[in-house]
Amino acid sequence: MMNQKLIERAARDLLTSKKTIAFTGAGISVESGIPDFRSAGGLWEKFDPEEYAHIHAFYANPEKVWLMLKDMFTLVMTAKPNPAHLGLAELERMGLLSTIITQNVDGLHQAAGSKNVIEFHGSHRTLSCLKCGTTTDGTLLQIEDLPARCPHCSSLLKPDVVFFGEPIPPGAQATSFRESRSCQLVLVVGTSAVVYPAASIPIMAKEAGATVIEINMEPTPLTGHVSDYLISGSAGKIIPAIVEEVKRQR
Ligand code: NAD
Ligand code: ZN
Repeated sequence: MMNQKLIERAARDLLTSKKTIAFTGAGISVESGIPDFRSAGGLWEKFDPEEYAHIHAFYANPEKVWLMLKDMFTLVMTAKPNPAHLGLAELERMGLLSTIITQNVDGLHQAAGSKNVIEFHGSHRTLSCLKCGTTTDGTLLQIEDLPARCPHCSSLLKPDVVFFGEPIPPGAQATSFRESRSCQLVLVVGTSAVVYPAASIPIMAKEAGATVIEINMEPTPLTGHVSDYLISGSAGKIIPAIVEEVKRQR
């Protein structure tokens, strides 16, 4: 395999690190059928995220934003974890991965069996009413009944995902920053690393002395600056290959 040397190096780094975290983005879920912001032919060609995923857009025209949310909801509710999610869950069970910090809102890390997951940008699995604060379990909603309305005041509900222009959930941010400053190794998987403050996680880790491994289809602003090395290709192939190599080496 093309990346074999780097996969062996990643396995060695995992086996020698006392604390490893993963920082994941939309790219890890592409092989589960959820498009990222970049890939061609996806949801985001139809809906410009700058326009649809901004909290001002939701306040100004929730019906319009729900056209996009309905598509996203359908994808998220039907997607299944892929070998990349499953591989990270296996690393956790082996005692080699302490935390996943994800920018994704699809719940696929938990579905894969990962226990310690921080959802930096919230989740699609619950929805809240911006008028009265009622929270609803999204997994109970029927896709045909969307957009969802508040059972108390019948306003349109908003999924508990962090829109552009909204703050990061304070607990998620504080814990993530603590994790990134205290780890020895970060696996950065499937993120373009341009959305802040999320993208500061691998940078903080690096500044605190951690090794940073990037697994991505293409280079990012971290490549060659923050990341020690890039293993380029599909996360669904690379992560299981690393897990196999870890088992072989230990
Ligand atoms: P992004 O779309 O900006 O970048 C995705 C990165 O993953 C790109 O660098 C791409 O080359 C890479 N990639 C694509 N397919 C890959 C694969 N199979 N294996 C490895 N790498 C692959 O995503 P981002 O950095 O996460 O930023 C987008 C924002 O949008 C995030 O805040 C996220 O919350 C949100 N978002 C979430 C989902 C989801 O929950 N699944 C989907 C789309 C967007
Ligand atoms: Zn309400």
